[in-house]
Amino acid sequence: MPGQTLSESQKKALSALVKEPRGVLFHEPMSRHTTLGAGGRAEVLVLPTAEELPDVLAFCQDSGVPRTILGNGSNVLVSDKGLPGICVIIGRSCGGFRIEGSLIHAEAGCSLERLSRSAAEAGLTGLEFAEGIPGTLGGAIYMNAGAYGGQISDVLENAKVLGSDGTMTDMPAENMELSYRSSRFQWSGEAILRTRLKLRHGAPGEIREKMALFAEKRRASQPVGSRSAGSTFKRPAPNGDETASAESRSPAWKLIQDAGLRGYRVGDAVVSEKHCGFLVNEGQASASELYQLMQEVIQKVYAASGVKLQLEVQLLGEF
Ligand SMILES: Cc1cc2nc3c(=O)[nH]c(=O)nc-3n(C[C@H](O)[C@H](O)[C@H](O)COP(=O)(O)OP(=O)(O)OC[C@H]3O[C@@H](n4cnc5c(N)ncnc54)[C@H](O)[C@@H]3O)c2cc1C
Repeated sequence: MPGQTLSESQKKALSALVKEPRGVLFHEPMSRHTTLGAGGRAEVLVLPTAEELPDVLAFCQDSGVPRTILGNGSNVLVSDKGLPGICVIIGRSCGGFRIEGSLIHAEAGCSLERLSRSAAEAGLTGLEFAEGIPGTLGGAIYMNAGAYGGQISDVLENAKVLGSDGTMTDMPAENMELSYRSSRFQWSGEAILRTRLKLRHGAPGEIREKMALFAEKRRASQPVGSRSAGSTFKRPAPNGDETASAESRSPAWKLIQDAGLRGYRVGDAVVSEKHCGFLVNEGQASASELYQLMQEVIQKVYAASGVKLQLEVQLLGEF
């Protein structure tokens, strides 16, 4: 399709922006870069460093081909048809951070879990909820990730954001429209590059205890170690009030269980026996099978309860 794919000279120019030999990959299977382990190939996959990232994103904009951003791929389902254009991973190679008093300055590719453990070591409280969330900071802001009564918006102060028109903004958290598993980034097309978090000083022993408790709760209730994207569906809002907090919403897994869908499968795509809110890839599930399972769960829960579940997992590519 014209305007969708890169020319050979564009591929060369893009490769020249990234030093690491395996920093630009062509026709790369996205199953290798997503926790669900499914999906087609990216036409071009780029893994820039934090220094290379602004030039890579500017290149994407100038080239006019589609651009997809990915963090750790732990909340996405990539289509079997793959991703046209350029997929930029803002991940480990953009993952630096430093702690200054109760402030954390971090690049968007920083692992949320690593950050939460480093904060604990520094005696900072506020990121304990992130223990066990396998995403990057950028992905966590995009999703306003949270668990066990905490969420990233509780500690986020601001972020350096690159707009789809190429302008860089220092954006305060108040302008990010952060609510339950939602943020402006889900419709703005902006890229999150760096962030500042503000935590509070706390007792290291208590912080570590809280994190150990959360980890234990996860092990007891979730299919830890299976290929999944975490909770597939958002918790339904009371009376359709989408501004409702996580705590005031009802659990999606209960509706799925009550609809008799525990263990329900489409090929190797399965509603987890351990936690009905998790859809897992038990073998060679394709993205189409996982997508079909998601749609069937939505339909069957609606038929059983009248509640229309919404996907939390982000769909990338054509479905
Ligand atoms: C086992 C398991 C447990 C989980 N538990 C939880 C949980 O308790 N709570 C919770 O909220 N989530 C949970 N998740 C889901 C997921 O880990 C979080 O949503 C996480 O924050 C996603 O981060 P990521 O880097 O993997 O984002 P990705 O999946 O890579 O991307 C998610 C979306 O964010 C966008 N994005 C990523 N980085 C950027 C950036 N820098 N700039 C702009 N857009 C960006 C992508 O385009 C995509 O649309 C879980 C997932 C798994 C597999």
